[in-house]
Amino acid sequence: MAERFDVIIVGARCAGSPLAILLARAGLRVCVVDRARFPSDTASTHGVQPSGVRILDHLGVLEPLLKVTPAIERATIAFDDDRVVTDFTALVGAPMVSARRVTLDAILLEAAAAAGAEVRTQTAVTGLVEDRGRVAGVKTKSGELRAPLVVGADGIRSAVARSVEAAEYHQTPAGRIFTWAYFESADADDGHMWLGAIGDHGFLAFPTDAGLFMAAVVPSIERRDEVLADREAVHAAELAHWPELEATLARARRVGPIRLMSRDGFFRESAGPGWVLVGDAGHFKDPTPGQGISDALRQAVELAPAVERALGGAGDGDRELHDWWCWRDRDAWEMYWFAHDMGAPGPPPLLIQEIQRRIAADPELTDALLRVLNHEVPPSTVFTPALALSAAGRALLTSPGQRRTLLREVQTIAANNWRRRAPSHPSPAAGRQQGVRDLRRSGVDRPSNGGVARRGAALR
Ligand SMILES: Cc1cc2nc3c(=O)[nH]c(=O)nc-3n(C[C@H](O)[C@H](O)[C@H](O)COP(=O)(O)OP(=O)(O)OC[C@H]3O[C@@H](n4cnc5c(N)ncnc54)[C@H](O)[C@@H]3O)c2cc1C
Repeated sequence: MAERFDVIIVGARCAGSPLAILLARAGLRVCVVDRARFPSDTASTHGVQPSGVRILDHLGVLEPLLKVTPAIERATIAFDDDRVVTDFTALVGAPMVSARRVTLDAILLEAAAAAGAEVRTQTAVTGLVEDRGRVAGVKTKSGELRAPLVVGADGIRSAVARSVEAAEYHQTPAGRIFTWAYFESADADDGHMWLGAIGDHGFLAFPTDAGLFMAAVVPSIERRDEVLADREAVHAAELAHWPELEATLARARRVGPIRLMSRDGFFRESAGPGWVLVGDAGHFKDPTPGQGISDALRQAVELAPAVERALGGAGDGDRELHDWWCWRDRDAWEMYWFAHDMGAPGPPPLLIQEIQRRIAADPELTDALLRVLNHEVPPSTVFTPALALSAAGRALLTSPGQRRTLLREVQTIAANNWRRRAPSHPSPAAGRQQGVRDLRRSGVDRPSNGGVARRGAALR
C-alpha cells in the first residue's frame, strides 16, 4: 500500500526545504524527496540578498549559518574606472550571506526534518501518479507516495514539469558563462563583496563558508569555445581586468576546479490539478544579479499559505494555486528582464555606460540600485525614462560622433519597455484545462529526457 501525505515536495534545496519547513510548521504531513545525497553541491555562486537573509532568519536557519559563514555587510562596486564602496547592511537592514550550496542546502534540509517533514534523500522521482485527471502522488523505485498535492521544487530540468508537460514562455538565451572557483588564504576582508562591470568583463566575488573565497568572472557567451578550451587561462585573464580584486588573490591557493555554467531563462506554466512548481522548476532568470535563491525563498513563503488554503477544503483549491502562479509571474517579471539585460553579451551600450557613471557618482542612485537588487523596488522605479533621456543627452554631448548609435540604443530601450510592460500568462480556466489534458496525454512515466528541449548549456 502506498504511503500517504498531505503534500509531497520533489527537490530539497532552497525552494523545497523552506516550503517543507513552513508547511510542516503549519501541521501538514509533508514528505520531501530528493535524489541527491546530502550534503550535496549544485552549480551556483550562492550570494543571498538581504531580503532572502531575512527569510532564512524567519526559517530559523540564519543562526547556524552565521556560525559557519560570515555576514557580508559591505560591497565594492566597479563600473569601468569608477569604484563605489557601500555599506548595504546600514541601507537595507540585513547583510548578505554566501554559504556554498553544500552547506546552505544541508542546513535547510536539517531544519525541514526538525520541523517535522519526512525527508527521503537518495530517492529519485521517476514519474507521477494520476487519479481522475489530477496528479495524486509520485513514483519512486521503492514504491509510490500519495498526496493530493505534488510540488515540483526539482530545479531547471524539473521531472514534475516534464511529466505534466508544463509549457514554457518568454524564453531568453544565456548571454554569459559563469566561470568560478574557490580560494583559500585570500587577502580579503570577511564582510566585503565585489561586484563589477568593467567593459565587457563582469565580476562577482565574496567570502564564503569554510574560510574560502569565491571569485566568479562571466565572459560573453561568444567565447564559449575559448572558455571550454582553457578555463584556467580565461579565469585568470578576466580577473586581471579588476586589478584590486586580482591582488586579493595574489597569494591565495585555488581549491578545487574552475566551474562553468550557462543557462537560458524561462517562465513555465506553474500550477495545475494536483501540482505546482516552485523555484527554478517554474522560472529561471540570468544569475548576474544573484536573485534565484532569494526568489525561491520568497516564493516558498508566498506559496505555503496558498497550499494551506488549497488543501483546506473551502473554496477552489486549484484556483488558489493558479493565483499563486500569477503572483509569481508579477513578482519575477521586471527583474527577469533586468537580469537578462545585465547578463547581455558584449560591452554595455553607451547609454548604459553613462547610467553606470551616474550611479557611481550619485549616492542616492547607488542606494536605489542596491534596493533594486534586494527586490525592494522594481527596476522601473529607478531606471526611468527621465534618467535614460538625460543620460542620452549627456552621452550625446560627450560622444557627438556616436549620435546614430545612441539613437538606436534609445529606440531599442523604448521598444523593449513597451514589449515588457506587463506579464502575460494563460488565463485561469485555460491553465486548469491544459493541466488535465497534458497529464493524460503525457503518460507521466516517460524516461527522464523524453520530449523535453534541453534547457541551456550545462558546460561542466
Ligand atoms: C551559475 C549559476 C550561478 C548562480 N548564482 C546565484 C547567486 O549568486 N545567487 C542566487 O540567489 N542565485 C544564484 N543562482 C540561481 C540559484 O542557484 C537557483 O535559483 C537555485 O538553486 C534554485 O533552487 P531550487 O531549489 O529551485 O532548485 P535546485 O537548487 O536546482 O534544486 C533542485 C533539487 O531537485 C532535485 N531533483 C531533481 N530532479 C529530481 C527527481 N526526479 N527526483 C528527486 N529529486 C530531484 C535535485 O537533486 C536538486 O537537489 C545561480 C545559478 C547558476 C546556474
